[in-house]
Amino acid sequence: MTRQLRIEPDGVAVDIADHATILQAARRGGVALPYECGWGSCGACKVTIVDGQVDLMFPGAPAVNPRDARRNRILACQSRAISDITIARGPGEWSAPVPRCVEREAILSDVEDLAPEIRQFSFETSEPIAFRPGQYAILHLGDSLRRCYSMCNLPGGRLLQFIAKRYDGGRGSNTLAALAPGARLTIEAPFGACTLRRQPGRKVFVAGGTGVAPILAMLREAAAARLDFEAPVDILYGARAPTDLAAGDMLAAAVARIPHARYLPVVEIAPPGWPHASGFVTDAITSTIAAPAAAEFYVAGPPVMVNAVKSLLRSADVPITQLHYDSFG
Ligand SMILES: Cc1cc2nc3c(=O)[nH]c(=O)nc-3n(C[C@H](O)[C@H](O)[C@H](O)COP(=O)(O)OP(=O)(O)OC[C@H]3O[C@@H](n4cnc5c(N)ncnc54)[C@H](O)[C@@H]3O)c2cc1C
Repeated sequence: MTRQLRIEPDGVAVDIADHATILQAARRGGVALPYECGWGSCGACKVTIVDGQVDLMFPGAPAVNPRDARRNRILACQSRAISDITIARGPGEWSAPVPRCVEREAILSDVEDLAPEIRQFSFETSEPIAFRPGQYAILHLGDSLRRCYSMCNLPGGRLLQFIAKRYDGGRGSNTLAALAPGARLTIEAPFGACTLRRQPGRKVFVAGGTGVAPILAMLREAAAARLDFEAPVDILYGARAPTDLAAGDMLAAAVARIPHARYLPVVEIAPPGWPHASGFVTDAITSTIAAPAAAEFYVAGPPVMVNAVKSLLRSADVPITQLHYDSFG
């Protein structure tokens, strides 16, 4: 009989085949729960039972201590479900299953002006599209006219939201800007690997212009999952002028729900009395981020900005493995 394993806080559900351990079921379902020995001696695969019952295959395993029983903690490698079960995974690194890329018909349900020439577009897809915050979609805007836009909302339903700017003379962005609610098009998603690594540690998010869309999605993920990175989290959002900080309020709202996080808007043209940083985001990184080599960076926006940030971080000895970015061109 097939049972279901649900994993919190991610809300992912997978089937458990007969005789499979919790660890086997998770990994067969594409969920890379952490583990090392696979036998019961290291404790790397400990998870907390939220709901449901398990058969402990090795109750006296070396890695189990009396506190585990009091806290409902089990070894995923040495436990089998005897009912549907919900577990809470530990805070360690975890890779969610990579969602399959699909094509769906979509209808534009809402358009909201956020700033001069910047709008939020909400689409309802015919069926849900699974994606990870930070990923993007390809919108089919016409014959051979396809453009990439990053989702700014959280996955889990049929809604896909994008923050897009209209560029003078740009074929794709003008076609998108001319759409009215009710318009139909095809959306292909998800794409991209610039997604949140959930392990604790110092993090810096850098958004330039509409690069705020994937950064907002990742911060919404951190806020919704109540992630505590146990270290400072800085969010820099650069634009030309304060009125161009299209998603500033949404970003600030997500940032307010993340422990140790601060929001740092940066504008190139600062009006008198502007209380925040002015100049380019690269200047703001230099002046506000101490010891960048100890931080993990998430960067999104126009190629010129992404390249400038990459070369700044290279000269500051930030290892390439600590840099995740999406260049919008
Ligand atoms: C990963 C990624 C995520 C992005 N996310 C966002 C976002 O969230 N919000 C946002 O506003 N913008 C985003 N962009 C930029 C967006 O895709 C468009 O480049 C932008 O809207 C300008 O498009 P345009 O057609 O108006 O301009 P154009 O100048 O006409 O074209 C823009 C880009 O499309 C390329 N291009 C032109 N013709 C073709 C073609 N036939 N096939 C393939 N490429 C072509 C050009 O090389 C140019 O780089 C993203 C881009 C990428 C790559």
